[in-house]
Parts: sequence; structure tokens; C-alpha cells
Amino acid sequence: MITPSEVEKIRAEFPMLSTKVHGHPLVYLDNAATTHKPRAVIERIRQFESEQYATVRRGSYTLGEEATEMFEGVRKKVQVFIGAKDHREIIFTSGATQSINLVANSFGRTFIGAGDEIVISHMEHHANLVPWQLLCLEKGCVLKVIPVSDSGELEMEAFKKLLGPKTKLVAVTHSSNVLGTINPVKEIARLAHAAGAKVLVDGAQSVPHTKIDVQDIDCDFLAFSSHKMYGPSGVGVLYGKYAVLETMPPYVAGGDMINSVTIERTTFAKPPGRFEAGTPPISQVIGLGAAVDFLTGIGMERIFEYEKSLLEYGTKVLSGIEGLRIIGTAPHKAAIISFWLEAAHPHDVITIIDREGIAVRGGHHCAQPVMARFGVPATTRASLSFYNKPEEIDLLAGALKKVIQVFG
Ligand code: PLP
Repeated sequence: MITPSEVEKIRAEFPMLSTKVHGHPLVYLDNAATTHKPRAVIERIRQFESEQYATVRRGSYTLGEEATEMFEGVRKKVQVFIGAKDHREIIFTSGATQSINLVANSFGRTFIGAGDEIVISHMEHHANLVPWQLLCLEKGCVLKVIPVSDSGELEMEAFKKLLGPKTKLVAVTHSSNVLGTINPVKEIARLAHAAGAKVLVDGAQSVPHTKIDVQDIDCDFLAFSSHKMYGPSGVGVLYGKYAVLETMPPYVAGGDMINSVTIERTTFAKPPGRFEAGTPPISQVIGLGAAVDFLTGIGMERIFEYEKSLLEYGTKVLSGIEGLRIIGTAPHKAAIISFWLEAAHPHDVITIIDREGIAVRGGHHCAQPVMARFGVPATTRASLSFYNKPEEIDLLAGALKKVIQVFG
């Protein structure tokens, strides 16, 4: 387990964590939205851009070849990090949103037709809902939704009943960005495969916080973003099983994704190149590699254990506040605490506590259906990281009590 003195050492690696907001030390509890960057990531990008920068995969001079080697090295790092079988299963995208849109537009438009069914859940981020709605509008396929229980868990018996011969894809989040619930994706993949469907896991909230093994989960696709895992923004990953990727047509077309082009006809490169048209986010990929090294250096199991202990502490402290209702009380949860305060709307809550330097998010968190499910227009959400301390949760609780006093 990460010790308190280790947390202090880790915090010292994150320059943003020693900034002040309204004269108060920043208490950053919005890690589900985006995370801060350690010096190792910032420095790696600086070094690459000032000493090693060149374009990649354009077969040219020494600098270009070296940059390509570093870039492709990150693909291998990510492969190992998520337990993929082959580095060619790692596609660099602009983020989880684009990764899911790639699957919807390539796999979806090719293999899902009128009357076919896509199963999602009631707790999806809009990024794993709206692309499927668009596909259904275009193709006449049907969206089925796994219900969510009062504690915020997927109703697995209902899920089993949704599966059938028309199910072509099951697309679910590994961990909810609102409820924190960690879903049984391995079991979901097993059941979906038995019904003949492919499986997409939205890993935006799980990859930064727990050890992922895509071969163990046996998902066909996994989508995630670098900026939520201590890397730069503008880059993300789509993992896809190679045998599935090979069957998929390109989604975005242009340079670098072809085999040969004549005016009449183009043949496409094999994955992952087929899905990486244009100049990629070169420096961002290099930065993502440094983030993967940073996380691996701490250890994903240790990160999970420490964040779990923070979650337990936070849940105890916040649930002791009168008039505060935690939304999402599943036994198996990531370190996200969403809540509703009787005294004040989340927008008022965040504005007031921001004056004390506390950054939490208030709103619908791009997951309006789950808000509707729990009968609230919005929640306030504290989302924790291995760089947070129990004292920061105490500061949040103190600030919330003041909000209640003011509005009460
Ligand atoms: N999926 C989940 C569960 C998320 O929490 C988010 C972002 O908050 C996304 C997808 C989209 O990630 P991005 O905006 O980085 O593409």
C-alpha cells in the first residue's frame, strides 16, 4: 500500500499540486475529468520537442527514424500495460471519445444492420451512448439498455435477457464516471460472446486506476484517454483484437493509412496504420509513454489499493454529513463519490468551495440518463487519485458543512 510519506513524495512530482487557488493550496478532487501531469511526463515532452522532434513513419532522415522508433516504442509500452497480445492491436486516437466513434463508424456501419441490436447500460457516458444512437438512426438498428439498481449496479439478470441472436455488440463502461461502480466486464464479455456479440469496454475511468488485462477480460475493444491517466491531452487509445481489426474498413482516410493509391483506387494498410490517417499526435504519444512508465513505477495494484482506502475514508466522512446523499453505493467501486446536497444545487456548491481552493465537479458529468435514473438534475462529484490525501477529504467535508450553514 502507498504510505503517507510516499504520497508526499508523489505529490512533489506534480507541479500543479503546489499551486494556489484564491490564496488556498489547490485541493484537486476532479480526477475523473482530467488528471494533472507528473514532471516525468512534462519533462519527456520538453526533451522530445526540444532535442528529438521529427515526424514519424515517413521513412526519412535519422531524426525521423529515431522519432518513429520512440513512437512505436510507446505502442509496445501500452500493449504491455493493458496486457494485449500484439502491439498492432493498439491504435492511437485523440481520446476515448474518438476510439468509440471509430468502432461505431467502422465496425458498426459494416457489421450492424437494420433490426440488429446493440446493448449498452443506463450508466454510460454520452461518449458511449450518442455514437450508438447515431448508428441506430442511420442503420435502423436498436439500442437495448441494461438497467441499473438503486445501489448503482448493473442488473445482470436483466442483461442476460437482453442478449439474443440479434445482439451484435455489447458496449459498456468498466467503471462509471458518476457512480464509481466497477462493472463485471469479464462476465459481461463471456455472456455477450456466448450470444455471438462483440464487446466494447469503455476504460476511460478504469485504465488509470486499476490493472487491466484485456486478454483476461476478453473484450474485443477497449477505449481510453491519456489525459485521465496523467498523460497529455489530445491522445488516447483504441485496443482491438487483431482478428477483429483486420475485418474493419478505415474510418478516417488520408495519408499514412494506405498501401497504394492510384487515381482510380486505394488499398489500405493493415491495422493499426489503417486507422491512423494523417500525422498523429506525436509529442502526445511520447508523453503518454512517460505516463505509462510513471504509473507502472508506482504499480497499478498499489494504486488501486490506496485509492480504495481513500474511497472508504471519503465515504465514511461524507456520509456523516446530514442532508448529503451519496449516489452510487455499489460494493465494488472506484474512488468516485457523487452526492446530492439537500441544501444547495451542485453549481452553487462548487462555486462556493472553489473559493477555498477545492476543485470538484458539479453537473450531469456527460451522463444525463444516469442522472434521470437517480432522479437528480446533477450531482457534485469528488473523484480521487493516488496523489490525494485523507486531509483533503476533511477539507472538502469542512467546506460542505459551511455551504449547508450558508444555505440552511
Ligand atoms: N467514458 C467515460 C466513462 C468518461 O468518463 C469519459 C470522460 O469523462 C469519456 C468516456 C470520454 O473521454 P474523453 O473526453 O477523454 O474522450
